[in-house]
Amino acid sequence: MSVNPPRIALVVPVYNEADLITRSLPEILAKAREAAPGSMVELIAVDDGSKDGSRASLAALAAQEPAIHFVSFTRNFGKEAAIHAGLAQALDRTGASAVIVIDADLQHPPELMAQMLRHWREGAKVVEAVKRARGDEGPLRRIAARTFYSIFTRMSGLRLDQDTDYKLLDREVVVAALALGERARFFRGIVRWLGFPTVQVPFDVAPRAGGATSWSLASLARYAWRNLTSFSSAPLGLVTTFGAVGLAVGGVLAVKAVIDKLQGLALSGFSTVILLQVIFSSLILLSLGIIGSYIALIYDELKRRPHYIIRPGDLAGAPWPAPAGPQEQKDLAA
Ligand code: UDP
Ligand code: MG
Repeated sequence: MSVNPPRIALVVPVYNEADLITRSLPEILAKAREAAPGSMVELIAVDDGSKDGSRASLAALAAQEPAIHFVSFTRNFGKEAAIHAGLAQALDRTGASAVIVIDADLQHPPELMAQMLRHWREGAKVVEAVKRARGDEGPLRRIAARTFYSIFTRMSGLRLDQDTDYKLLDREVVVAALALGERARFFRGIVRWLGFPTVQVPFDVAPRAGGATSWSLASLARYAWRNLTSFSSAPLGLVTTFGAVGLAVGGVLAVKAVIDKLQGLALSGFSTVILLQVIFSSLILLSLGIIGSYIALIYDELKRRPHYIIRPGDLAGAPWPAPAGPQEQKDLAA
């Protein structure tokens, strides 16, 4: 039986990191090679519609190093889409038996890959790097993140605090993840939902190696709400709760109104009326908003649009390794 080296693919989403990646990608690749001696390591960068010359940096890197490949999106589709594209490329074009998703900014320490690969060889299908401490975040961000995760956990039953996108996935897991047809994607949630045997590896988040994060607090809030609604319909239950509470309060006030009327005190209730107006009109608007979010999700799913568009020229770009043939994949599985 022929012995083929296992193939490992690194998937790196890149958005406006032109300066950083010339340094970080070779470092990530070198560390992965060190961690997986005898394996064929390929790095697939997905340029998420960068506006700063990241694409030119990637082209230069790919020209120097045949193991570096990249695809570019026509515009910024978001990190989730970039990860999705990277996984699809890794599967189709490198035939990798394991994929590691890692950020371009070195906040995910590449040294950890040795440990992740060891767990994988010992049988784990998913190896997740989890944060021991959150990185250099301001207090507002920290509180926002903590609130989001506690609500998310309660509503979806998935525990995701300390979780990151830094993960090793066995080929089987990638196939399963890509088979889910949903448009609204939340990589960490999906991997957890799939339920493959998982090992967690703790790490400390390093400060960014350069550049700046592209997430504003508003964009994080939008991201949080989208992920929550794509994973849980519990917010719709809130609408019913509002209704029930409203009914109870309304009932008490109705009895009071009748008693006041009978005692000839009817006009005194003016402020109650105003308060009721304010409270219930805001609850109704909030409820409509929540229901609207789900209608928007249904609408997005119905449109069946692709998750991203790859710039046409980039598919033909740098030469890719031949995908593993059926025999080779059998060897890898053995
Ligand atoms: N990223 C991306 N598309 C985006 C935003 C970010 O592909 O729209 C990439 C970015 O280049 C980096 C990773 O996702 O490799 C994490 O982004 P960032 O460091 O800004 O996020 P944070 O570390 O603050 O979560
Ligand atoms: Mg970062």
